[in-house]
Amino acid sequence: MIKVTVYNEYIHEVESEEIAAVYPKGIHGCIADFLGANEDITVKTVTLETVKEITDELLIDTDVLIWWGHMAHHRVPDEIAERVYNHVMRGMGFIALHSAHFSKPFTRLMGTTCSLCWREGDRERVWNIMPSHPIAQGIGNYFEIPEEEMYGERFDIPTPDELVFLGWFKGGEVFRSGCCWSKGLGRIFYFQPGHESNPTFFIPEVQRIITNAVRWAKPLYRLPEIECPHTPSPEENL
Ligand code: ZN
Repeated sequence: MIKVTVYNEYIHEVESEEIAAVYPKGIHGCIADFLGANEDITVKTVTLETVKEITDELLIDTDVLIWWGHMAHHRVPDEIAERVYNHVMRGMGFIALHSAHFSKPFTRLMGTTCSLCWREGDRERVWNIMPSHPIAQGIGNYFEIPEEEMYGERFDIPTPDELVFLGWFKGGEVFRSGCCWSKGLGRIFYFQPGHESNPTFFIPEVQRIITNAVRWAKPLYRLPEIECPHTPSPEENL
């Protein structure tokens, strides 16, 4: 089984009736529903209110951590971001969705500002530019999102190891919408669609991509601790 933990700050859905109508169970509830429908995936969820549940014990028991946040990045304690960073270095997978580009764990992992430009209410065409990639399996040449927030370049990230999806917006901008990195022993995927007031996480292609990303980011090896040991030579007659 792949053990997934989904963090969603869960503020928009509580504070706005319109957004609650889009995600009655919260964005985390929607993601948990479609991921949990797979026989090989189990899902736990955490919100800002319960963010202190993101302990070492939870992360040791998490193969892939998914993060959605927007207006309350600053309310996530620094030590939790550092803990997430530490576990990714030791092998845990991490998936940052949409406005998590500015979340503390993602910016810590990237080491750059992760800034971009934005505008609500565009149409997006997501191009699959790496169809051989595990995360692109089951996705055609492109798919469309009728309404999604425009995120435009320049996206201040380190050059991705693999660029799987490229977003084009009706307004003319383009964006590196699906990016992969290996950092330490962990795998990281950033996926741009997922604005809170649009039903993006109900789109089959979006669900397929996130599900594929969970399987891709699942660790094959995990280090119990970050260490830098002084070691004897393996040669007997040094
Ligand atoms: Zn947004």
